[in-house]
Amino acid sequence: GKFIATSERSHDAIFLRTPSGKRLSYRDLWNDVAAYRAALDAHGVQSGDRVMVQVEKSPEAISLYLATLSAGAAFVPLNTGYTEAELRHFLTDAAPRLFIADPARRSDLTALARGCGVDRVETLGMDGSGSLPEAAATAPASLSIEPCGPDHIAAILYTSGTTGRPKGAMLTHRNLGANAEALCVAWEITGRDVLLHALPIFHAHGLFVAINTTLLAGAGLIFLPKFEVDVVLQALPEATTMMGVPTFYTRLLDDPRFDAAATAHMRLFVSGSAPLLENTFHAFRECTGRAILERYGMTETGMNTSNPLHGERKAGSIGPALPGVEVRVADDAGRALGTGKVGVLEVRGPNVFRGYWNMPERTAEDFRQDGFFITGDLARIDPEAYVWLVGRAKDLIITGGYNVYPKEVEVCLDALPGIRESAVIGVPDSDFGEAVVAVVVADDPAQPPVAEALVSELRSSLARYKLPKRIVFVDNLPRNTMGKVQKNLLRDAIAGN
Ligand code: ATP
Ligand code: MG
Repeated sequence: GKFIATSERSHDAIFLRTPSGKRLSYRDLWNDVAAYRAALDAHGVQSGDRVMVQVEKSPEAISLYLATLSAGAAFVPLNTGYTEAELRHFLTDAAPRLFIADPARRSDLTALARGCGVDRVETLGMDGSGSLPEAAATAPASLSIEPCGPDHIAAILYTSGTTGRPKGAMLTHRNLGANAEALCVAWEITGRDVLLHALPIFHAHGLFVAINTTLLAGAGLIFLPKFEVDVVLQALPEATTMMGVPTFYTRLLDDPRFDAAATAHMRLFVSGSAPLLENTFHAFRECTGRAILERYGMTETGMNTSNPLHGERKAGSIGPALPGVEVRVADDAGRALGTGKVGVLEVRGPNVFRGYWNMPERTAEDFRQDGFFITGDLARIDPEAYVWLVGRAKDLIITGGYNVYPKEVEVCLDALPGIRESAVIGVPDSDFGEAVVAVVVADDPAQPPVAEALVSELRSSLARYKLPKRIVFVDNLPRNTMGKVQKNLLRDAIAGN
């Protein structure tokens, strides 16, 4: 990939630092990548193979990722939370040449992998000790890069599984390079930047958006195992940028130590992967004087849109298309709709993936003839070309023949006093087909507002058919590791009682 070659420039710069004082220069990184490459070669990994990885976050995992790309093989990272049954599905689906497991689980997983036809299970020093695999002894002084074209598969990343079983998105070297470049330009990432990295690295957000841009710019990472407010507050003074999911920001805002001074030297706060509530955007601005920059992407496409670095960042909007990316809102037949009309968001550009692994029919369904990819997200575009998501097509509620976009109701609810956040869903209903139900987290769960009072307040802003038929108070909304609200769990729970 392009972002690999370019970053070899900055040998002495620090690529990565950890709170425990570990420091890795770019030179160290490339030495480690060469060592991992030698280990992959020793295990027979070749161009076109897949290397599947389910390990805890570590600097070694980044070296392994880059070594896999240098071999022309596809990197296939898995969520560390997957159960053995889930793992069995992914092993069978991806049929990797090599499976790299967490050392603590290796013996359990070896038999499991064999049962799925995967013979090689290794740990390759993924125990966080920093000791490299044995084959490292034979590592060449410089990294050899297997020649492969821009359309060669660099990674298969499974989607988050928010709407169904995760799908393997095949991403090419061109996809990764184009995205890293567009983001470095849009966000002006340079070698002087230091990114606070508290995201998991098995997902596109933490791996591609955060790490590929850092490599391309020759910038630095503060590498945290996970998001913990204490650790983040300590690390912030060394950082210039932070990328996070919305829950990172709400958790910072909940801590009284987080204030304008804590962020004074920061250049940029980015949010994505899930909707940033307008409440959070405004509270963050009140607390720090800064506007969080919200952007939108998918596993399949990398980043599509971003609020501007210099222009207006609109609360609740995901911003205009990134350079090189085309977006349109279309009807079910793929005809572009006018400004302000709600339809399915479609994207086209060098960032858009090759297709779903082992799912040719699904791939064909999700692409238009003219190459636009149908995202499955509903949106409208305003006169200034800013895109506004209104929810996923799968979450659209049809009640008594009327369309209700959950986001519209959620925004109104969230704006009422006493409400922290909400999720609006459709549940089966004998009269209406689906009924609008609001699941609400109160600021003070012990004293939730009165449901009837909330509904009557909503009457001034929402048409009758959009009003929730029921309000259910909960302490928390169920979220997955990327901070996405799991509406199917809510639907099941509410429909079931
Ligand atoms: P699956 O496709 O398996 O159901 P998923 O769509 O959640 O899961 P990802 O590729 O991780 O898997 O997430 C992409 C989705 O995340 C987008 O389609 C969109 O719905 C949501 N998303 C990303 N960024 C934002 C954002 N800024 N605001 C709202 N939603 C966002
Ligand atoms: Mg999806």
